[in-house]
Amino acid sequence: MQLYNTSSRQIEEFKPREEGKVSMYTCGPTVYHFAHIGNLRTYICEDMLVKTLIYAGYDVKRVMNITDVGHLTSDADTGEDKMLKGAKREHKTVLEIADYYTKVFFEDFSKLNIRMPDVIEPATHCIPEFIHMIEVLLEKGYAYQAGENIYFDTSKLEKYYTLSNHNEEDLRVGVRDDVDEDSNKRNKTDFVLWFTKSKFDDQELKWESPWGRGYPGWHIECSCIGIKHLGEYMDIHCGGVDNIFPHHTNEIAQSEAFLGHPWCKYWFHVHHLVEKDKGKMSKSSGEFLTVSLLQEKGYDPIAYRFFCLQSHYRKPLEFSYEVLDQMSAAYQKLLKRVSELKEDGAVDEAVFADFRKKFTDALTDDINTSMAITVLYDVLKADTNDATKRALVASFDEVLSLDLLKGEEKLAQAGSVDAELESWILERIDARKAAKKAKDFAQADAIRDELLAKGIVLEDTREGTKWKKN
Ligand code: AMP
Ligand code: ZN
Repeated sequence: MQLYNTSSRQIEEFKPREEGKVSMYTCGPTVYHFAHIGNLRTYICEDMLVKTLIYAGYDVKRVMNITDVGHLTSDADTGEDKMLKGAKREHKTVLEIADYYTKVFFEDFSKLNIRMPDVIEPATHCIPEFIHMIEVLLEKGYAYQAGENIYFDTSKLEKYYTLSNHNEEDLRVGVRDDVDEDSNKRNKTDFVLWFTKSKFDDQELKWESPWGRGYPGWHIECSCIGIKHLGEYMDIHCGGVDNIFPHHTNEIAQSEAFLGHPWCKYWFHVHHLVEKDKGKMSKSSGEFLTVSLLQEKGYDPIAYRFFCLQSHYRKPLEFSYEVLDQMSAAYQKLLKRVSELKEDGAVDEAVFADFRKKFTDALTDDINTSMAITVLYDVLKADTNDATKRALVASFDEVLSLDLLKGEEKLAQAGSVDAELESWILERIDARKAAKKAKDFAQADAIRDELLAKGIVLEDTREGTKWKKN
């Protein structure tokens, strides 16, 4: 298996530490808001990595944290705790917010056919382990107390900058200077391990520690949870490219200082989902798309998965409804083609093995998902019987997870959703007509907006009101 490693900035032959077994860690969501479809692009690509490894015969253990404390509005330890911000916005407690958004996050996993991690651990469940790690870092001289916070001393590590491929000067410029004006940090890149003093006093969750009541910094959770469940060595660590610096750079610093040896060998980073003229989709902007919203607009979440699989995980992916529409149509067509395959006898084992190899070769070539889909289309065009094609489609779908053999069911469902949607639209058009007749123009406009919110545009013509999907 060939895999790009951010750490070496090269494609490398993947060799796990223990033959046949892979230990893998994924940075989980910060559960102060819905995950957007950008976040989910990262998890879809990581899912393709996990399933490729399983398909290639590896036994994979994957661990994911849930960030429910300590992630400030800037990754460089500035601003308000994101969880607190979410709680204030919704007039709820931090734990209520965390529970709710964690639940919705995994519902999205299920809608997108993403395999659940083997271990899921919220940061707030591991406070004693964080405190222990910080104590060891203090004892070893890698951490220090300044003001009322505990910091990691990045100057103690020669290779602090390796993952981010920056030189020290770049990072000095990159790291914001307003971290904590009163912190007495020794170096600009030093980061908080434990806060006892915060610029915002209303932090809801605090714990006793040897340094006073406080709460952990963001980075410590992934080092600690990774080591707790996967041991002293990790094969692959995943995340989005925005995690490379400072988050993953800081994870390496803490973990290697704590363990006293190299920690994770392969770093797998997924590039961003971007929007034209807006750039990276982000939760903090407040303007983002969710899987539920796509569903409300009539899209099958798996069509979004199909959309993501057409591009390589190391390239930015631009989202547009136009392309999603094309992908949805292509996906429906694909389902239809597969549903037409007949049960016509025995599987041709030689043809099966040949295509299975081509498919595996595509995926083990740094997770080339678009090539894997090309192999799928080649199967459908191949000069072999339908039974062989069906068997190959079933086998490929263990990795692609596109519900390829549920075509009939899905197409019937799509038909009935369309019929339901159409009758609702016609009912709303009638209601608008009645409102206009009664000169209640505000109501008529509200109905037009209600339809628009669902992606339905109205056009008043001489023959009456017509509608179309936007
Ligand atoms: P968060 O919930 O903000 O901690 O992010 C969860 C995951 O989504 C992290 O691995 C991020 O790197 C990733 N991520 C954030 N924004 C995007 C985006 N626009 N496209 C792809 N992945 C993203
Ligand atoms: Zn993390």
